[in-house]
Amino acid sequence: MKRWEANVRKVVPYVPGEQPKETDIIKLNTNENPYPPSPMVLEALQNVKYEDLRLYPDPEISQLVHSIAADKGLDDNQVFVGVGSDDVLAMSFMTFFNSDKPVFFPDITYSFYDVWADLFHIKYETKALRDDFTIDVNDYKAPNGGIVIPNPNAPTGLEASSSAIESIIAANEDSIVIIDEAYVDFGARSVVSLIEKYDNLLVVQTFSKSRSMAGSRIGFAMGNAKLIKYLNDCKYSFNSYTMDRITMAVGQAAIEDVDYFNSTVADIISTREWVKDELDDLGFVFPDSSANFIFASHPDIAAAEIFEELKKRGIYVRYFNKPRIDNYLRITIGTDEQMGQLIEALKEIRSLKCHD
Ligand SMILES: *Cc1c(COP(=O)(O)O)cnc(C)c1O
Repeated sequence: MKRWEANVRKVVPYVPGEQPKETDIIKLNTNENPYPPSPMVLEALQNVKYEDLRLYPDPEISQLVHSIAADKGLDDNQVFVGVGSDDVLAMSFMTFFNSDKPVFFPDITYSFYDVWADLFHIKYETKALRDDFTIDVNDYKAPNGGIVIPNPNAPTGLEASSSAIESIIAANEDSIVIIDEAYVDFGARSVVSLIEKYDNLLVVQTFSKSRSMAGSRIGFAMGNAKLIKYLNDCKYSFNSYTMDRITMAVGQAAIEDVDYFNSTVADIISTREWVKDELDDLGFVFPDSSANFIFASHPDIAAAEIFEELKKRGIYVRYFNKPRIDNYLRITIGTDEQMGQLIEALKEIRSLKCHD
């Protein structure tokens, strides 16, 4: 090892789901939305003035902040916008998690949290989910340097009740509680209304899943004005111009097309519900999902085998080779047609692997 390497910030990076180069595959591995963004996004793109790209964008992202605040019934100073919720969450870790006490999050959860904690040298402690993957709220009522919980949780898809989440927020007035609501729009309940009641609550959401905009990178946090100010102070000390002009324009169009949003979300929910029935018929077990994916396991066929067999058939799902979840597959909800093909492939794999 070179001597300068002693002073390098070393981290084991997060590994995102595969983005295969082939286009004729069924991609159910990164929880993207199978439907295109709103047609108003296309219109906004066509109206972008290319000559304006020579100018820096608005560092305050004011118009998009305003559109999001209006959609959520909040004031502009209660909303922070970042480049994907990954950016918002990373900024929040840096801003709010600076205690000597450890930050708490579930042992089975979004696998970026421990990476950010390591990156920013934040101590953390994971709290084991129960065997049925539910959260024990009492785990989060000990002294801590902050809390982050996704609701619905990833990769399980399970929703914790608003009262369970509120009891965690209420028990932690000395630290910031971040609720990562990346999947909340697929039928779960948001706790965003609680930001008026608790000044230690930050709710994070994204355009990547329910608004079909993963490629644009738009995420946002909602909290009281003081939290948002602290987030902005850190952001402006890091990079003032995080979001480009084109993204601001398409983001605004996406959030303003409420009808399109409601109808695509409803389509995904109804697809999810019939896929649950089909998986159940095939003998799969899974926690009841409130998200745009299902976390499924089969008692007779190893998840790793199903993963490989599906891949051979051009169907990509997500497999995590990690303790407690290494016999599960996280399957994103695609279109009815894609999910029909998935079910057919699973029937074939089952008859191949089960000789009963
Ligand atoms: C997808 C996801 C995110 C990040 O989404 P962005 O594309 O960065 O907005 C954050 N948290 C969870 C739990 C997710 O699944």
